[in-house]
Amino acid sequence: MIGGGSPGSATSRGEPSADREAAPSSPSRARSTASAPPRETTSGIFGPCTTKAYPQGPAELARMGARTPWHDPGVCEGTGACARACPTEAITIEGTGRGARLRLDYGACVFCRKCVDACPTGALRAVRFFELAVRSKDDLVARHVAGGTLGANPPPSQDKVSREVRERISRLFSGSLAVRAVDAGSCNGCEVEVSALSWPAYDAERLGIHFVASPRHADALLVTGPVNRNMRLALQKTLDATPDPKFLVIAGACGISGGPFRRSKEVEGGVPPSDLPSVWVPGCPPRPEALLYAFWLALGRVEQQLKNGELPPKVGGSSLR
Ligand code: SF4
Ligand code: SF4
Repeated sequence: MIGGGSPGSATSRGEPSADREAAPSSPSRARSTASAPPRETTSGIFGPCTTKAYPQGPAELARMGARTPWHDPGVCEGTGACARACPTEAITIEGTGRGARLRLDYGACVFCRKCVDACPTGALRAVRFFELAVRSKDDLVARHVAGGTLGANPPPSQDKVSREVRERISRLFSGSLAVRAVDAGSCNGCEVEVSALSWPAYDAERLGIHFVASPRHADALLVTGPVNRNMRLALQKTLDATPDPKFLVIAGACGISGGPFRRSKEVEGGVPPSDLPSVWVPGCPPRPEALLYAFWLALGRVEQQLKNGELPPKVGGSSLR
């Protein structure tokens, strides 16, 4: 198990962790986060390059392909074609026909749409939706009965991060968040999207989010990759070197479940369980907006959209295809 030190332990910056909370805000931490209109940054050969408004404004969904699977149990015949087509066992089914129990895990999904193409009844559709980050892994899993009613079966959603901890994270880090990225055996796809956060188009620094070179300067770790055996110790040491209080953002199907590598004996099957506050970001890889949403969720600035594996009603089954 990986995890943080005790809340009152001395930090690697040579100060008690409690002092960080009490200390006055630095100028960068006090940076204004008020919404701002998109601003033109550079002139590219295809026209002006504009910093995207998201998350302070709407995302440009029109440029997104519809790749997020959404399952409607009402028209599901329980053929199991989706489960057979799925390359990562994100969809599993017990039984056949109406009454079969289907499980869809967004944490294992690589958003390939094979299940959508294989479904003979149209019960699985692809929608444009990327705000899939959650604070509890349980919320990534939808459980349906074929022929049943949407939302009839999921267990009650339980936010594993207490309100007190969420408020503390929001209070400490909402002005400025220092992030150390850890590649724990990624294919590099996730890193390409993470690096996009520093491009003018996404410009995470406008939101007070900046990447640092050392875990000793970090407030949060952004972990990608399935945690291969050679990186397990390095990840643990990086966690230990990050001062308290801290939290984890675990990005990509690999970090959540092992993704396409989940059956390999060389990987741990994702980031091991931790007692640290964590946000899980589905995707393969998660697009930059999905990462920004995850940080926003961790900082308590937005409500979690995905609950019990169910997409918000305005998305599931909508015309956003
Ligand atoms: S979109 Fe996700 S659930 Fe569907 S086949 Fe691909 S990995 Fe499996
Ligand atoms: S989640 Fe997908 S893109 Fe990210 S490291 Fe794994 S395989 Fe690569």
